[in-house]
Order: sequence, then structure tokens, then C-alpha cells
Amino acid sequence: MNPDRPFVIAGPCSAENEEQVIATAIGLKEIGIQVFRAGLWKPRTKPGSFEGVGNAGLQWLSRVKRETGLLTCVEVANSSHVKASLKAGIDMIWIGARTSANPFAVQEIADTLKGCDIPILVKNPVNPDVDLWMGAIERFQNSGISCIYAVHRGFSTYERGLYRNIPQWYIPIELKRRLPDVPMLCDPSHIAGRRDLILQIAQQSMDLGFDGLMIESHIDPGSALSDKEQQVTPSELKTILSSIIIRDYEGIPELLKELRREIDEIDDRLLTLISRRMQVAREIGRCKKSNKIPILQPTRYERLVTHKVSCAESLQLDPDFIKRILEAIHEESVRQQLTIINSNEEV
Ligand code: PEP
Ligand code: MN
Repeated sequence: MNPDRPFVIAGPCSAENEEQVIATAIGLKEIGIQVFRAGLWKPRTKPGSFEGVGNAGLQWLSRVKRETGLLTCVEVANSSHVKASLKAGIDMIWIGARTSANPFAVQEIADTLKGCDIPILVKNPVNPDVDLWMGAIERFQNSGISCIYAVHRGFSTYERGLYRNIPQWYIPIELKRRLPDVPMLCDPSHIAGRRDLILQIAQQSMDLGFDGLMIESHIDPGSALSDKEQQVTPSELKTILSSIIIRDYEGIPELLKELRREIDEIDDRLLTLISRRMQVAREIGRCKKSNKIPILQPTRYERLVTHKVSCAESLQLDPDFIKRILEAIHEESVRQQLTIINSNEEV
């Protein structure tokens, strides 16, 4: 384990203008950060969002380096980004989650980097596929890159849950098992999607023995042009970093730690599912209201419970226990539907 943990890379989601970049860099330098990140070419989910300032930002980053001594790091997604970054003297580059999922793009970048040993950070692909993540890392190893970091930034899901991208910690753990020499960083900003969860996720990653963190920091998060909700000021970042406890867990068996993490993750997913279940119940309430259908349909409910209880047995679950849970969920669903029926809401 690296005694200097955590190694921290911080900076805005996007470089927006020279003043924002310089002011953020100075703030981060003051709190002891050594590597400054900023996105210049932004992969946005929908067209029409801010897509980054592009090449124009490279000179702002050169200024950061000149005036603060911070190392600079940008995201590259194709060969022209790589060439422009190398020419501008960028110190490190990262591969974003959407690019890691695309072997053609990764190979193009790896080919462009041949003969140029710049440190590179490979974020996990958006989908939870450890082979794809590992494949991206191998493409850079095959191009002769000797300093490669993996960055865990969570995985996208259809359901909207507590996190913007669910952690699925067992994926980075598996990557670490397969590639023990590749240092692992965590990007709690993109996992959380909201700043109040950053500390908790960063702490979890440190408890798992991760080597470092990539955290988004903006001099004025409220005015950020991308990822506004998840950015923190340099001074908030200082508070987060000083709250992290680097624990010595030697007394607790590794297996127990892993099982507890799994339980936490399952509980998060259960909460998300129950929340979705109640949302659907309210939709059903609206449908029944507009069609003048009574809320309680006892035969359907009886059939449903009997069927689920018989499934429970084959899943090694106690039928009485499952019956109690189903009844509690059903009771709450009925209550939610009644609220809809009794409300003045138009359906
Ligand atoms: C980012 O770091 O700003 C970014 C776009 O990250 P990701 O590729 O993890 O979504
Ligand atoms: Mn971002």
C-alpha cells in the first residue's frame, strides 16, 4: 500500500475561460494539489450542451503549468486531441468512460501515442465490463506506455438511483486482482453526481485500498457549464480531503470487508427499486382513477402473493418472511394509490 495515499488529481469538469481555469488552479495549488485536470473536448450525452472550448484551452493549461507548477491533465478521445495535447506540453492524459467502451477509439489513441511515454489514466467503460476495461489498458501497454492508472467512475444504469453512476465496487476489485500493478484511482464526482456524497464514496475507495482520487473542483461551481451539481470549490475540496480517514484495517478479514460492501450496495439497489415500485404504483393509481377502476382487486392480489411465495421457496427464501415483505409493500402501494385518487390532481 502506498503510504502517500491518496494521490489527488483535481480541477474543473471543463475549462470554460482563462480566468476560471487560472483561479481554480491557484486555489488548488494552495491546498496542496499537484495535478490539475480540465476537460477541453467534452463528450456530452445530448447535442446542444456545452461541448468544451477545444484547442483554445491548451494555452490556458500551459499558463497553469508555468504560473503554478501544477502538472496538467486533459481528456482525449481521438488522435487529433492527442497530437494537440502533446504539442502543448500536457503532462498526463485520461481516457473517458465513453471512449474506453470503444476499442476502435482506444486503439487509435494508443497508436498515436506510440513512442511517447506519457502517463495515462483509463476510466472504466460506462458499462460494467471488466474485460473491456482491461482490454483498453492492454492496448496502451502494447503501445509501450509504462505509467498507466485505472480510474473507477461508476457505471450507468437505466434506473435513476442515489448515484449518478452506480459503484459496483466488485468490478474495480476484480480489475485490481487481475492487474495488481496498475494503480487504482476513484472518481467520486462522477459516481455521486452530487457533491454531498463525494466524501462518503472517496472514503469507501480509501477503505478498499485505492491509491488516489480524481475530484472535480471549480472556483464557482454554481456557474459551471457542465456537471454543476458535483463540483466543489478548492476550499470544500480541502475539507473533504482532510476528513478522509486512512484506516488500518489489518484486524478485519478481507472477506468480511468485501461482504459488507456487497451488502451496502445491495441495500442501495433495494431502495432504488422500492422507490421505482412506488412510482409505478402511483401511475397505476392515476390509470385506475381515470378509468374509474376500484383500487383493491383482491383476487389479483391473492394470486400474486401465492405465486411470489412459491418462487421464494425455490430461491431458498423463507416463505413467511417474503409474505411479510410483500404485504408491507402492497400496503404502502395501496396507500400511495389512495393519495392519488383523493388528490385534486388531473389525470
Ligand atoms: C469527466 O471526467 O469530466 C468525464 C467526462 O468523465 P467520464 O468519462 O467519467 O464521464
Ligand atoms: Mn465531468
